[in-house]
Order: sequence, then C-alpha cells, then structure tokens
Amino acid sequence: MIFFDSHAHLCDEAFDEDREEVIQKCFDSDVKFITEIGYSEETSKKAVELANKYETIFAVVGAHPDECNKDINLSYIRELAQNKKVVAIGEIGLDYHYDNLNKENQKKYFVEQIKIANELNLPISIHSRDADMDMLEILKQNKINAGFIMHCFSSSVEVAKEIIKLDGYISISGTVTFKNAKNVVEVVKIVPEDRLLIETDCPYLAPQAYRGKRNDPSYVIETAKKVAELREKTLEEIAEITMGNTMRIYKI
Ligand SMILES: [Zn+2]
Repeated sequence: MIFFDSHAHLCDEAFDEDREEVIQKCFDSDVKFITEIGYSEETSKKAVELANKYETIFAVVGAHPDECNKDINLSYIRELAQNKKVVAIGEIGLDYHYDNLNKENQKKYFVEQIKIANELNLPISIHSRDADMDMLEILKQNKINAGFIMHCFSSSVEVAKEIIKLDGYISISGTVTFKNAKNVVEVVKIVPEDRLLIETDCPYLAPQAYRGKRNDPSYVIETAKKVAELREKTLEEIAEITMGNTMRIYKI
C-alpha cells in the first residue's frame, strides 16, 4: 500500500529542527510520495530545492492569494517552472477570509497565473476560502488546459458538483476527520472515483487523532481511513485510487 500526500508544506519553519527525520518517518510509513507546495517566491524556491533532494518529492510553485493583496512580480514562477520536478502552479486562488484584502488584485494575479500554467501546460493547485462565487466565475471564464485541484476542499456539495463539471479534482484534508466536520463528509461521498485526492496541508490541520499537534505527511493515512469508511471501501482501495489520481493530475 502506497500513499501520496498531494499537498504539504514541509519547508515551513515548523519543520526546521527535524525536517529530514520527518521525511524519513513518512517514507518508513506507507507515505512514499509528497508534493511540496510553495505560496510565495521564497517558499516556491525552497519547494524546488526540497524536491531536487528527494526522488519522490515534487514541487508546486506560485503566489498564494494572501501574497496578492499587494503588487507583486510573478516572473519567478516561469523561471522555477523550468525545473522538471515542478508538477503544477499553486497554491493560487482567492482568499476572502480576512479584512484588508484587495479582491481585485487577488483576481488579477489568479487569472495571470492561470495563463502562465496554460502556457507551460501545467495543472493548478487552487486555494479557495470564502470566495465560492468569484472562484466559480473565474474558473468558468478561464479554461485550465492541464486540469486543476481544489486543495483542502471545504465548500458545499453544490460547489463540489460545479467543480466536477469543470473537470476539477477535489482534495480532502484532515478536516474530514474532525468531530464537527459536516460539508466535507457529504462531499467525500459524491466525488467521482477518478476525481478524489487526499492531502495533509501540513503543518496545519492535523487530523482529529492528533488535533492541535503539528501535522505531517504520514498522517494522510488518517484521512484515507476516514474517506474509506465514508465511501465504504477498504483502505487499500483508497490508497490505490488516490495514488493513481494524484499521479495522473501531476503527470508523474
Ligand atoms: Zn497549503
């Protein structure tokens, strides 16, 4: 049984003391593949460096919506994407959760990064928070040629259905294991088998069994167990399904 954590932030300072040990712990468990996600120029560079050190770690580069409330230069994305371990552009998108945000800038840079991804024929890892309507509108108006993943999906079943219609993939994080999980539990049940991914989004969002602790890619198995239970499948089946889907969207 092999698992793929489709969305991790191992370059986060939470792992500064023991990054190599954590990665070894994952490889010693059944989590053999990881995608390291950048969200700024600095973290995108680090993601590429990490991916170059480990054969089964891949990198995603881009500017997160939190970065896009100010004016920024996206030229680093094209440069870093020349590296063959870069498998997608991300995490990019819209985040309307906090005050003092610049929605127009967020939308502008999101669309610009979709264009870069299309130029490079790379898929996109999307972050969307409290922005369902604008997100769906942009996705309907801007076709993403190489496909896209809605990372850490937290919207409604209705939004999930729209995403699936647009050929998107839905990635489920440890939030599905939370005692108060509602939407995501229903979403897991309706995602077509060839659209389902799992992730940790570590160091954030540790699954219920480790809640409040630092998350790491080995805990993606907790999410897989919950998904297996909800879909009435075996853990082996979920491992195989999500592994195949992750390899397909990232073209690994
Ligand atoms: Zn993330």
